[in-house]
Amino acid sequence: MNNSFSQKQHIKYDKSAKNYIIMKKILVTGGAGFIGSHLCAKLINDGHSVICLDNFFTGSRSNVWHLIDNPRFELVRHDVTVPYNAEVDEIYNLACPASPVHYQHDPVKTVKTSVMGAINMLALGRQVGAKVLQASTSEVYGDPIVHPQTEEYWGNVNTVGIRSCYDEGKRCAETLFMDYHRQKKLRIKIIRIFNTYGPLMSKNDGRVVSNFIIQALKDEDITLYGDGSQTRSFQYVDDLVEGMVRMMDTDDKFVGPINIGNPNEFTIKELAEKVIELTGSKSKFIYKPLPGDEPKQRQPDITLAKEKLNWEPSVYLEEGLIKTIEYFKSIRSEERRVGK
Ligand code: NAD
Ligand code: UDP
Repeated sequence: MNNSFSQKQHIKYDKSAKNYIIMKKILVTGGAGFIGSHLCAKLINDGHSVICLDNFFTGSRSNVWHLIDNPRFELVRHDVTVPYNAEVDEIYNLACPASPVHYQHDPVKTVKTSVMGAINMLALGRQVGAKVLQASTSEVYGDPIVHPQTEEYWGNVNTVGIRSCYDEGKRCAETLFMDYHRQKKLRIKIIRIFNTYGPLMSKNDGRVVSNFIIQALKDEDITLYGDGSQTRSFQYVDDLVEGMVRMMDTDDKFVGPINIGNPNEFTIKELAEKVIELTGSKSKFIYKPLPGDEPKQRQPDITLAKEKLNWEPSVYLEEGLIKTIEYFKSIRSEERRVGK
């Protein structure tokens, strides 16, 4: 074993709640990334011990720096394509670049991360008896013909396009999770995450929310790909993290897949207009070619999440955008201070 945790979960009395809570040992792969760092913070805040495992391809130490001194937090540099051992109760498998710019940078590695990462984490789950949750994606629906997307929909995905390394890698990971569950009786959970935004998004990964906010804050042109009529449904990261934890805590019989997203659908042009309004920017629109294999529309059906997790998003777009704009303003002023 190469981790510092000597024993698994134990029980602690929570004075404020006047109740006993189960403190778990939890592994979060991709824990130094955008979503992973929010998840690590919540799990630590809830009283658990966390191993944050990351190869720092798109994540960074600075995302989890505020947790470093916590004795219940451990940061490990490791690549999920290589087996890893730790005595844990639960594994959240998030390791995988999520933005098109980064997952297309080395597509072969992207497939390996999804597929070999899934195999390695499932094998670890089996070895130590841990429950394993897979961070899957709405991209498994591809360019959807069924709208909004329900979990029963099998998707419309190109196997040979420039997004396929990500989409098909994630689809194969789902298959592996289900087969480990059916064949090897592993306790698993699959969530399909829809577009998510919030503080700690990487400023250079080309995703639409970060791009538009950064461009607007600099009064630079806002880059609309295509005519901006394609739709997405964005959820604030806190809503997602709450949904992830609730899914992990469901009865072992319920494995998913389950959609976690905000059904509030809008066009990319509407998003750009909202960002301009909230930042008071002088930016103008410029139109650029639409990248290959782009889904034209995307909206989750979250009936299952409401029923099984008693979950639905609570953060409105405007509220979430204001918090995200504040975050990007703060990193901009820090960059100015250090002369970047
Ligand atoms: P991110 O790029 O910020 O985080 C991914 C993390 O995984 C990074 O810290 C990165 O360094 C790490 N990583 C990548 N390859 C690795 C490897 N081989 N070994 C170890 N670590 C590795 O992306 P994110 O937005 O935080 O996404 C997290 C997860 O959620 C991903 O699995 C992604 O597919 C999924 N997801 C995200 C969204 C979204 O809108 N952000 C939507 C759907 C699904
Ligand atoms: N997009 C855009 N301008 C940008 C970045 C993205 O118009 O500067 C569009 C992109 O073409 C897509 C949508 O915004 O239609 C969401 O892009 P993102 O990469 O954030 O997520 P995904 O395509 O994976 O849903």
